[in-house]
Amino acid sequence: MRTEARAEIFVRGLVQGVGFRPFCHRLASKLGLAGTVRNLGDAGVHLILEGEKGKIEEFLETMFHDHPPLAKILEVEVRLSKARGEFKEFIVSKSEPSSFGKISLVPPDIAICEKCLSEIENPSDRRYRYPFTTCVDCGPRFTIIESLPYDREGTSMKDFPLCSDCSLEYHNPEDRRYRAESTCCPKCGPKVFLLNSDGRPISAGDPLLETAKLLDEGFIVAIKGIGGTHVAAKTTDDDVLIRLRKNFCRPQQPFAVMSLNLERIRTFAEVDQKAESLLASVQRPIVLLKKKRDFPLSDLVSPGLDTIGVMLPYSGIHHLILSEGKDPAYIMTSANLPGLPMVIDNSEALSALRGLVDYFLLHDRRIVNRCDDSVVRFTADGHVFIRRSRGYAPLPLEMKFRFGKGIAALGGDLCVTGAVTKDGKCFLTQHIGDVSKFETLLYLRAAIHRLIDLLKIEKIDVVVCDMHPAYSTTGEAKRLADETGAEIVQVQHHHAHLAGLAAEYGLDELLGIAADGAGYGLDGTIWGGEVLLIQKERFEKVGGLKACSMPGGDLATIYPVRMVAGILWDALSKEELREILVEFCLQGFPRGEKEIEVLLAQLNRKVNVPLTSSLGRLLDASSCLLGICSARTYEGEPAMKLEALASAGDPSRFRPEIERSGNFIDQASLLLQVVEALRAGVKKSDIAAGVQASVARALAEIAVEKAEELGIKTVGVSGGVFYNDAIARTVKEVVERRGLRFLISRQIPLGDGGISAGQAVVASFLTS
Ligand SMILES: [Zn+2]
Ligand SMILES: [Zn+2]
Repeated sequence: MRTEARAEIFVRGLVQGVGFRPFCHRLASKLGLAGTVRNLGDAGVHLILEGEKGKIEEFLETMFHDHPPLAKILEVEVRLSKARGEFKEFIVSKSEPSSFGKISLVPPDIAICEKCLSEIENPSDRRYRYPFTTCVDCGPRFTIIESLPYDREGTSMKDFPLCSDCSLEYHNPEDRRYRAESTCCPKCGPKVFLLNSDGRPISAGDPLLETAKLLDEGFIVAIKGIGGTHVAAKTTDDDVLIRLRKNFCRPQQPFAVMSLNLERIRTFAEVDQKAESLLASVQRPIVLLKKKRDFPLSDLVSPGLDTIGVMLPYSGIHHLILSEGKDPAYIMTSANLPGLPMVIDNSEALSALRGLVDYFLLHDRRIVNRCDDSVVRFTADGHVFIRRSRGYAPLPLEMKFRFGKGIAALGGDLCVTGAVTKDGKCFLTQHIGDVSKFETLLYLRAAIHRLIDLLKIEKIDVVVCDMHPAYSTTGEAKRLADETGAEIVQVQHHHAHLAGLAAEYGLDELLGIAADGAGYGLDGTIWGGEVLLIQKERFEKVGGLKACSMPGGDLATIYPVRMVAGILWDALSKEELREILVEFCLQGFPRGEKEIEVLLAQLNRKVNVPLTSSLGRLLDASSCLLGICSARTYEGEPAMKLEALASAGDPSRFRPEIERSGNFIDQASLLLQVVEALRAGVKKSDIAAGVQASVARALAEIAVEKAEELGIKTVGVSGGVFYNDAIARTVKEVVERRGLRFLISRQIPLGDGGISAGQAVVASFLTS
């Protein structure tokens, strides 16, 4: 072949595990170019092209604009030279472990594609009913990757050598499974098997069909999937749900469900266009949807809430079970014991879940990286992350901000993710969870190390953690800093929330409202309803809720009646307070009126009575006063149930006057107006809606006034309270009515899953 030019090309981005090499092969062959393509150890791709210069240009043009839909090109480096005639045709070469210093992206898991799905549904296809069917466009990636480059040898699929049929497909450039590293078939791939509660195999013809039958009969089945294990059960039988809740010590916590298709979801939940496209996206997150008024599933799926978390099947395993089942949806909740990471290993499943489930549907492929389902919901006209995990992790956050290098951030205490930075980008770990248990802290440690390894980060210079001295992540930061020789930076919790938000939109300053359950404040009080001025690495508290008593500390988060008493303590005499507690909150004192005296004595002595300005606690107290929730069994429960009740109410029917001293809101006056309204017989749903709207409006007004005073054009919100659509929307309205720009994170989780990213932002400023 007579060649004229040679181009050596390095492509960085999401280019492994997404069909990029087969794409290059097809394109080069079509254009008559010779050369080679190979995966590199840094997750990038190296190409050599030889041929007519015009054709090479055409190749690059097409590569930029018509690459496989899942691929993402961040950077391309082209070195042109004279052709050497080294290649006769275009070939895919063996991958190279080497890297060229810069990163590319580690592919996340991708939901099963339509083509693979039609194969497993086709009785004449050799992959008929085979649950591990994947191709170059779909299947597990991150959860099976041990090392890069992304080749079968670097994944847990290496335990399954290709059979001759699969090998033919794998080596045929015309085939959809050309270089599809996770491909397999019933002959050579992993297998599912069904075990009874003692872990003994059950000889079922088709374990998946049998699983569907067992679920419909009301049994609880642990199902090992792609990135972890679910506990599955039917959703239409109260008795099944009562047993499930009892076994897993989750008396009230909402369970996510999986439903075969959108049509079935529409029978129990409201699905609009936006929700539909998220549900069906390749990431297949759990999407929080509004329950239908006529709700055919058991109320015990998400008791006391007006929403339900729903996802579509994302693997062959789920499809094959759900397509046989009769229920409109099945519970698919992470199989974990309270506070512990989700079970991924077969023997671990059998020991940890023994006695809690009736059957186990397991398989023999190892899960290398545990990855919980992602959770999103719609708030203030767009979607926000509650949990950014499967399907998204470990892709970097898309931010208008260049992060400093060599930063590792460990997050807070609940709903934790970790973060590392490289090449200006921030990579969040998958969802880790509540790290108060040592096992979960170890999971965080391992997940961060895994990212450091996969991304080939050579040195950690800065470790970032919260300011709370007792958080296990603070201790972990010291350990990691000792190990790596890095310096430690501590970042205030709400500063991290809002610094992340500002960075997401590329702003150096904003007026922010950070509202959540709790975060360690600078003044020794517990923050959670703050208006902060954010300027790069600096912040200043300029307003918020006035701090009030929190008798019993953490106990007051579990028993919100303590917050009712704490908030009203300074505003009332003991007798007046006692009267209100007896009238509205007796259900909050399991041991009766005697307990009220103990609580009042504690407030009087001020022993173990920290101060808090948390909006989460104020909402909890309102929830308790309205008789909605008097004992919290999961994070956020009282406030979430308040939100559910409020969604049926009209905020214009209860408009309390919010009293302020300067820029600080008096919480007691708000609660006293709630008491008055209750006594006047105002509908509880209207009161709930009015509480949310009035406090949101008051915080927004403080932020807007301050922004106008300082000439700042943007007001943003962050923190778990803003998952509440009514609250976020009210702030948005106030801000936009005054001609300012309203911001909320669409990339970083609003809750504490976003703390690590915000910590990394502040550390980037401090060390640049
Ligand atoms: Zn496929
Ligand atoms: Zn095979």
